[in-house]
Amino acid sequence: MLAYFPIFFPFFALALLALSISKDLLLFFKPISKEHKKILADLFLYYQRLDAKKKVQFEKRVNRFIRLKHFIPRDFPIVSEEMKVLISAAAVQLTFGLHEIYLTHFNRILVYPDTYFSFINRQYHKGEVNPQHGVIVLSWKAFQEGYEPSASDRNLGLHEMAHALHLEDKIVFGKEGCCLDEKLLYEYQKLSKNVIQKIQTGEEHFFRKYAATNDEEFFAVSIECFFEKPEGFLENHPKLYHTLASILKQDPLEVYMSGTAA
Ligand SMILES: [Zn+2]
Repeated sequence: MLAYFPIFFPFFALALLALSISKDLLLFFKPISKEHKKILADLFLYYQRLDAKKKVQFEKRVNRFIRLKHFIPRDFPIVSEEMKVLISAAAVQLTFGLHEIYLTHFNRILVYPDTYFSFINRQYHKGEVNPQHGVIVLSWKAFQEGYEPSASDRNLGLHEMAHALHLEDKIVFGKEGCCLDEKLLYEYQKLSKNVIQKIQTGEEHFFRKYAATNDEEFFAVSIECFFEKPEGFLENHPKLYHTLASILKQDPLEVYMSGTAA
């Protein structure tokens, strides 16, 4: 029996590996649960406004995003299903116009109940993206505030997902990027230089001051405004708006205006 071990061991190892991969694949392709679908239908405006066909695509992407991530609670016992669905929905909202992108470099999502203290820079944070550790960190309170109906242009979930997408483009797809059009990104950066300067001199008021921190923060803050205040964005910065719509291959004004609200 022992004599056969070296022959059979690789076979069994391969069989076990195949079994575990197919189990993961099955989970990946499993349809969204009724519970998760209800959370989207009840709480996520962007999803509510999609037509029936796009709703199905959105559900599929949310479901797959959830299955690819480890949601880790910090300072509280468990990341609820509602948290998982809504955090995943923010990522899918941002990438919905693009090919299926699941921000695979970031496989862990840390959730704090509120702001958290960072021992690195000794400050309280609401969220961050750490490419070295493949982690997205979010304060649940701040995340929820971003999706409350209000006149605010803040949306922490979209802000951090925008950083993750920008980094994913460079890390996973290489120097030239792939999931985001390089030429359009360059064009966007060129247009934003002028706006950043105007924010710094106090001539520009549509974007909040934090957007002028650097190119990365401008990208993330402008994505918040793109989804939260699309009309104002288009009115104040039409060229910038259209370029961002081309980069993300979607126009929130079309989504918000054409659908039927729940
Ligand atoms: Zn940021």
